[in-house]
Amino acid sequence: MPWKLILIDLWSASKHTEDFNNNRGRILNQRVQLIAAVMAVLSLLWIPIDYVALSAEQFSQVLWVRLVWVAGFLLFAFGWRGKRRSLLKGYLRLWLIVALFAVSYFYLWVYVFDPAVQDDFSAGYSFLPYIAITILAVFPLTLLETGLAILVVVLFVLGADLQSSSLLELSIWIKLWFLGVVSVMMFWASASQLHGLMALYREATRDTVTGLINRRLTLSELDRVRQKLLSRGMSGAVLFADLDRFKKINDEYGHLNGDRVLRDFSNVAVNIHPALTVVGRFGGEEFLMLMEQVEADEVMEIAELLNRTIRERLVTGLDGEQIRYSTSIGVAEFVEGEAQELLLERADSALYAAKGAGRDCSILAARPTL
Ligand code: GH3
Ligand code: MG
Ligand code: MG
Repeated sequence: MPWKLILIDLWSASKHTEDFNNNRGRILNQRVQLIAAVMAVLSLLWIPIDYVALSAEQFSQVLWVRLVWVAGFLLFAFGWRGKRRSLLKGYLRLWLIVALFAVSYFYLWVYVFDPAVQDDFSAGYSFLPYIAITILAVFPLTLLETGLAILVVVLFVLGADLQSSSLLELSIWIKLWFLGVVSVMMFWASASQLHGLMALYREATRDTVTGLINRRLTLSELDRVRQKLLSRGMSGAVLFADLDRFKKINDEYGHLNGDRVLRDFSNVAVNIHPALTVVGRFGGEEFLMLMEQVEADEVMEIAELLNRTIRERLVTGLDGEQIRYSTSIGVAEFVEGEAQELLLERADSALYAAKGAGRDCSILAARPTL
């Protein structure tokens, strides 16, 4: 993949597919829950140490902060349910945890500890910004997401430190430098996680012969887009295509040339009409497609355009042979209240009717009586 495209993918989620976002959302939510549970326990365990090391007044002030943490983390870990795959919610939860540490740092260093008399113990609380930032390494994040979380931390650190010193002082710049170094590592860590996740996702959802989405993703995309269209009162249809006498093409020209034909069909289907938004390889020489916002006559026009275009294709084989092929298509329109399996069954029956009618044609399934 060209580095420019990789960078766009790592920069922000704007070009990521909804299915990938749902997957990443699930990971984010799960990890936030786990981190929050760990943090709740660690926050509790430190209370006795605070008790021994801090003055009575400081202890009671810090105790409040710790109780807010424990309550917050328990809420994140066990309380806050809702859609587990929402990327936005997962990120928001993570961001709130980071912000909780940043706000605590501000509170502790402005109201509780005296920055002028940093002893060994209170110095531990000056590490809060670093803890906040290093949490990010556990998550697959875009550069923009990581940057937004780090920005909050840096703003609160500056806000707190500028209460007692000025921008001219070296100590602030040393701290910013260290925060910067840690941040670079965290950008690297979370972007690498995202990069690895994307590579695995691609492997798990793409068909290697044609580059189309595979059966699993095709079915889930079909379900997602269909639900969206139906809920908005919009029309749509599935097209089930099966190449004709494909076994013969394999027998006659060889499997490698058969693969070329499969790729040729994919290229044609992907580019044939803007209404055809999902094109997936269902298996073997069968393809499942989804058409958005088209009425029945228009669906059949597009299906027949596909028949016609495929019929006229000449695929050049490995030894220069010219291969012709054709396809049969079963079409079924979306009907409110119909289960996806039944819709696919109707398209499949229509496909078999097209085979029975002599192949190289499209047939529209009858609407079900619900
Ligand atoms: P029909 O018109 O009734 O669909 O006949 P057909 O020969 O297309 O149907 P059949 O199901 O008998 O054969 C499908 C063939 O598709 C058999 C199988 O070898 C071939 N096939 C499945 N996957 C691939 C693939 O990835 N590459 C190649 N080259 N062939 C494949
Ligand atoms: Mg078949
Ligand atoms: Mg076939």
